[in-house]
Amino acid sequence: MGKVIVLLSGGMDSATLLWLCKREFTEVYALSFDYGQRHKVELKYAKELAKLAGVKEHLLAEVPHYRLMKSSALLEGGPDVPAGEYTQEVPPTNVPMRNLVFLAIAGSLAENYEIDHIAIGVHALDTPYPDCRAEFITAVESAMNAGSAFVLKQKKRIQIYAPFLHMRKVEIAKLGKKLGVPFEKTYSCYMGTEPPCGVCATCLQRQQALREATQS
Ligand SMILES: [Zn+2]
Repeated sequence: MGKVIVLLSGGMDSATLLWLCKREFTEVYALSFDYGQRHKVELKYAKELAKLAGVKEHLLAEVPHYRLMKSSALLEGGPDVPAGEYTQEVPPTNVPMRNLVFLAIAGSLAENYEIDHIAIGVHALDTPYPDCRAEFITAVESAMNAGSAFVLKQKKRIQIYAPFLHMRKVEIAKLGKKLGVPFEKTYSCYMGTEPPCGVCATCLQRQQALREATQS
């Protein structure tokens, strides 16, 4: 399917996406973000995963403006990450428009590197986050194509590849197992501790998905 740039956090979903893209695309780039996240340790895992997957290049983008915000539990200096599943309509770990910012950066890099696909690992369990929903992904893809000189010149569209959009986490875990993803080298904890805290919502979802994937 040509070239792709994969948004890689270092977690199990984006790692599975990376391995899937290695199978589906001829040239794979990875892109990670340093945005003042509490769990910055994930970048170490992303780097190792990108190396193991043998990507063409692993790009690291700095997103400094999130350091101005203290409202999200996922950002350094924000409120604590709660233990257990979230009860609020929008999780306290929501980072304002994070995927819009990330996809905009990915889009500009895609244009620079003449890459026509951008892969993102949003999935069915992410839907409480407004910027993980299908309508958001479709809208960003339209905006990207409307604003890209690369698209204008190549007469070819940039596509956002989000194959997990309607998949549950256990299905991603099963796919990852089939693709040989080294899950032990992925990191998902929002607390940012090593070893992972085991009690935040992301740790719980990860444990459950990996357990169910092993059972069936
Ligand atoms: Zn955790």
